[in-house]
Amino acid sequence: MSDAQETLYANIIVDISHESVDRTFQYSVPPALFGRVHVGSAVLVPFGKGNREHKGYVLKLTDVPEWAPEKIKAVRSVIENETGAETDAIRLAAWMRGRYGSTMITALKTVLPVKRKVADKVKRTVVRTGDGEEAAAAAERYEKKHQCAKARLLRQLAGYESLPYELVTAKLHITLATIRALEKTGEVRLLSEREYRDAVRGRARHAAGEEGRCAVPENAPRKRPYALSEEQQYAAECVVRAVREESGRHFLLHGITGSGKTEVYLEIVEQVVKEGKQAVVLIPEISLTYQTVMRFYGRFGQRVSVVHSRLSDGERYDAYERAKNGLADVVIGPRSALFTPFPRTGVIIIDEEHEPSYKSENMPRYHAREAAFELASYHRASVVLGSATPSLEAYRMVQEGKLTLLRLTKRLTGGTLPNVSVTDMREELKQGNRSMFSDRLAQLLKDRLEKGEQSMLFLNRRGIAGFVSCRACGYVMRCPHCDVSLTQHRGGRLICHYCGYEQAQVSCCPICSSKYILGFKAGTQQVEDAVKRLLPQARLLRMDADTTRGKESYDEILSSFMNEEADILIGTQMIVKGHDFPKVTLVGILAADLSLNANDYRAGERTFDLLTQAAGRAGRGAGAGEVVIQTYQPDHYSIRYAAAQDYEGFYREEIAYREFLRYPPAGHMLAVQVYAADEETAERLAAEIKMRTEESVKENTVLVMGPAPAMVRKVKDIFREVLYYKHEMLEPLHVLREQIEQYLEEKDGREETVLFDMDPMNLM
Ligand code: ADP
Ligand code: ZN
Ligand code: ZN
Repeated sequence: MSDAQETLYANIIVDISHESVDRTFQYSVPPALFGRVHVGSAVLVPFGKGNREHKGYVLKLTDVPEWAPEKIKAVRSVIENETGAETDAIRLAAWMRGRYGSTMITALKTVLPVKRKVADKVKRTVVRTGDGEEAAAAAERYEKKHQCAKARLLRQLAGYESLPYELVTAKLHITLATIRALEKTGEVRLLSEREYRDAVRGRARHAAGEEGRCAVPENAPRKRPYALSEEQQYAAECVVRAVREESGRHFLLHGITGSGKTEVYLEIVEQVVKEGKQAVVLIPEISLTYQTVMRFYGRFGQRVSVVHSRLSDGERYDAYERAKNGLADVVIGPRSALFTPFPRTGVIIIDEEHEPSYKSENMPRYHAREAAFELASYHRASVVLGSATPSLEAYRMVQEGKLTLLRLTKRLTGGTLPNVSVTDMREELKQGNRSMFSDRLAQLLKDRLEKGEQSMLFLNRRGIAGFVSCRACGYVMRCPHCDVSLTQHRGGRLICHYCGYEQAQVSCCPICSSKYILGFKAGTQQVEDAVKRLLPQARLLRMDADTTRGKESYDEILSSFMNEEADILIGTQMIVKGHDFPKVTLVGILAADLSLNANDYRAGERTFDLLTQAAGRAGRGAGAGEVVIQTYQPDHYSIRYAAAQDYEGFYREEIAYREFLRYPPAGHMLAVQVYAADEETAERLAAEIKMRTEESVKENTVLVMGPAPAMVRKVKDIFREVLYYKHEMLEPLHVLREQIEQYLEEKDGREETVLFDMDPMNLM
């Protein structure tokens, strides 16, 4: 590209705070700057009528001029060693584009928030009028009158002088009307603070109460009521030292659920903030519960910024600006919180780092863990990965010396590790037990109910659907648009979970007319029905994708179980995540091996994670816990090691399998997905792509699989064809991807889309 004969053009974005980053301007690159101008470089360019010098960033290099070459202005110079939020964003976007494949614009839109149109932002806070005791007394009064919402709010205010309005409404489910009613009776006040941004100084603040009088009181940071354990103290100190020394060292905090990882995070963040740096804390969206948020809010008050997927563009942008202008030191949120533009990030913490939700589903399909390492390198910051069941990626990095392992081995609430037993359902069937529960589990459920203790039933539904099939010919009812099996719901409706297609249950098989066309009973609803038959007096709660449709229902179900309004909580993987139920002494795991049958290379890892996490839900309080794993494959290593709670044993078997087949993290895999409106076009393009890459595949001994129809062949009438490339190293795969990108760019008539996925989490 730096051939001196050629002319090189750079597409440059000049105003990065522009409402759309789509506007780029083309400049030519003078030969003197060849080799110094890269995608992501900061440059100085003449701009506008007066040709005033502006800073811009290079988003693309090309040898194709967009208009008459003589009218194209030239880049003046390159700015080296540029720092700042914009530069970080551009650098990260350029890295993402190179690592995962996408356009620079798409990558940039991923790391920068949309600029909001409304100028002002009002920050509202709910404040108690009396002291904590008065609030507690008022809460009690309302509880007696069964005014739950009022009672709930005052209970919280007994512990905190004030709470952010968003937290009260979104996480405590209190309406504005309730707050207003409590204002009338004089128990709380709603204050608002207006923030004006000063274009010059960037952070002038003006405080004015809604009535124009008082400002919001800062919450005094709360102290934890106990001292850290020796292990916790050691772990926190190691990280804090690395941050202080800017050594760029990274850590894996491996500790069973309940071993006090979150407490270690809080300690690290506190120390890091004290030293004038900032902290990013990533947690899976599903763990972003009121309890978690309050632990951080309680410690850092107004200095913590909470990001979640339900924020509006405006709120997102405000959070971004607040961080940039030094009004917040801590951000907590799901993977996108990583892009918070702190001036001096000291630490990036990723809790439950093994969670698949850390991988983006949109282009560029980045993994938050990988992006965190990249971003940390700009600030010489440290990354802390935390998990009870580390990803194979993380544990391999420990083996390679790239991560320092920190262990938490004890539960701190006095609970002991649960007693885990495995029941073989094939044997149960031989003994004539046709019910959903093994004798042992049925016995234990009864026992817990009699003792007034809580139980959880976890149905492993990953990788299956409650499909309907013909027992005579084997035909499975499928969605006519998406080529996935339909799921049977109560009342017999058959529903497609990709596109929402719905039809009535059929009374005979469309192929062979047999009347034996039925559903396999494997839903949480069937579990609920079975428990009702077994224990009619038990109070049940069910949590799955259907019962948590509403925005608040997830938190509501959890709180209600926490308040012991039910004896048994039945649910899918949702119930095993990040929640502490001290009264639960029994966990039953149904169909433990279903996820082993999922057709992808992570099935063993997912199964081990799910079982370990589910087992970890028992015995969080003082009582000993009991876990029953029901399975048809009791000898599978994922199940054996999960029952023994032996992560290392599991890791050794699993990594051997990955190494043997060169699956990540033992190698890399690039998925190329072709989407087209008809089957033929998809197949043709995939074959063409394969042909075009043949040479470099041979040269670098890359392994190719496919093209083949995707697991889900068709979604919303779009056909999908997939091609996989595997290699030990990333580099040859990057080369391949660039070749494909180039071919696609040259080829016109695009009714088809090609997406890339580096190291995909599932087979597609
Ligand atoms: P994890 O994040 O590993 O699941 P948490 O930090 O949530 O663990 O801690 C689990 C429980 O133990 C919490 O109830 C917490 O308050 C308590 N805890 C944490 N550290 C200590 C400690 N040093 N002493 C006593 N209790 C602790
Ligand atoms: Zn049939
Ligand atoms: Zn469908």
